[in-house]
This record gives sequence, C-alpha cells and structure tokens, in this order.
Amino acid sequence: MHCPFCRHSDSRVIDSRTSDDGLSIRRRRQCPECGGRFSTIETASLNVIKRSGVIEPFSREKVMSGVRKACQGRPVTEGDLAVLAQTVEEAVRQTGASQIDTNEIGLAILGPLRALDEVAFLRFASVYQAFDSLEDFESAIAGLRADHADQPDRLRAGEAEPTR
Ligand SMILES: [Zn+2]
Repeated sequence: MHCPFCRHSDSRVIDSRTSDDGLSIRRRRQCPECGGRFSTIETASLNVIKRSGVIEPFSREKVMSGVRKACQGRPVTEGDLAVLAQTVEEAVRQTGASQIDTNEIGLAILGPLRALDEVAFLRFASVYQAFDSLEDFESAIAGLRADHADQPDRLRAGEAEPTR
C-alpha cells in the first residue's frame, strides 16, 4: 500500500486489530521513507447493485430501515432488527459472492423476517414481491398456515408453498 503522504510504494504494519464483530481488521502502518503513520481497514468486500445500477457497500442499517417500515406497530425491537440484519449479512456472505443485487437481499430477508413476525413478513413480502391480488395474499397466508399445521408432507408436495 502506497504511503498517503509521500507516495512511497511500501509501508510497514506496526499493529493489527480485529473489530469487535470480527468482520474487519484495522492495521496501523508506517512509511519507512517519511515515517508517516496511517491506518487501513480490511473487510471482505460485499457490494450491492441497486435497481438503478448504482453500486454501494452492503449496509446492515439499510436492511434494518427496509424491514423497520414493515414492522410498524408490531412487537419487534431494534435488537430484533439488528439480529435479523446480521443473519441476512451472514446468509449473503455465505454465498461467496462479492456483489449481489437488492433482489437477492430481499430474498434473504424473507426467511428470518417470517420467523420473527408473520404480519411484518406479509407486509414486506407484499411490497417486495409486488402482490397485486388477494390471491397472492391468500397463497402467502396458506403457506404460513401450513407451517403452523406442522404437516411436512404437505409442504414437501408443494401444495402449500408460499409464492416466490
Ligand atoms: Zn511516506
């Protein structure tokens, strides 16, 4: 890494520290040429391609704000949202992709949100999956009911799967 002060082509790591969440490493560096000190932060790159084509770094806060709207008036805490956003990030990172589109994030949100609050799940799914008829709601609700009934055979047959 080039020195930001004198552009010398090398630098020496004098300290490394992993962040509390374990997702990044902060390195303190020193330039052997001018002695200047600077820090770098290393993370596994994960970018989101928005519908507009704009690319930006994955943000748990954006996941939380997207889900927060669907959770209005529901017994869901900020802590619940933070856990959900972390679950989504882990799921997305596990795919090994360095770039994903917002659609895939929406998909990764559906499962954990459903486990968290079914009403919020229906609200989120209705917007995200663009429900445009009562039938869309009915089939999503039928999917939830089927899980409540705890009949794995029916689910496996695909009769009560929620629309995707
Ligand atoms: Zn330097």
